[in-house]
Amino acid sequence: MSGNWKAICKTRDLFQHEYSHGLRRQKWGWSKLVWNNAAVPKHCFVNWLIMRNALNTKEKLHRIGVISDDLCCICQVSFETVTHLFQQCPYVLKLLELACDWLKIPKPQGNSLIWTGRRNWSQVQKDICLAVFMAVHYMVWQQCNSARLEGVLVRPTVVFTQCKNLMKIRLRCQSSKVVRASDRDWINCILN
Ligand SMILES: [Zn+2]
Repeated sequence: MSGNWKAICKTRDLFQHEYSHGLRRQKWGWSKLVWNNAAVPKHCFVNWLIMRNALNTKEKLHRIGVISDDLCCICQVSFETVTHLFQQCPYVLKLLELACDWLKIPKPQGNSLIWTGRRNWSQVQKDICLAVFMAVHYMVWQQCNSARLEGVLVRPTVVFTQCKNLMKIRLRCQSSKVVRASDRDWINCILN
C-alpha cells in the first residue's frame, strides 16, 4: 500500500471514529461544536481539519518546500494560513457578513465556531449558526482549491446564495424537531 493511500485510509478511519463518537467526546473543547447534527457531514469533516490546523494551506506547503509561494489563493495579498483563510481574508469576511445578516446575529470575532459556542443562545440557535458557519468555511476552502487548481473564483455573493439555499433545504428537512416557540419564530424568519 502506498504511503499516500495509507494516509488517506488513516484519515478516513479517524474521521469515521470522530463522526460516530464526536458528540460524546470531549478530548478537544471544540469537538462538540464541529460534530453537530444540524451541519452537513462533509462540512463537519473540513471544519474538523480546520480546527486541528490540518489543512494543506499554501503557507504549510511552502514551509515544507512543496511550493514556492505562500500567498492566499483568493486575495493574493496575505500568507495563506488557516487563520487568514477563515478569519481574516476579505472573501471569508464578506461571506460571514452575508451569513450574519441572514441569521440576524452580530458578526463573529476571531474563530467563528468558538465565538458561537460562547454565545448565550439556545442550543438550537447555536447549532444552526454553527452549521451555517461551517458551510461558509467549507465553501471558502472549495473556492481556495478552485482558485489554486483552475484559476476560477466565484463571487462571494453567488457562493453565499448557494450556501443559504443548501442550508435552507437542510433546515426544512429537520423542521419536524420539537423546538421552543422563540426558536421556531427565528427559524421561520430565516427560512422565509
Ligand atoms: Zn486571502
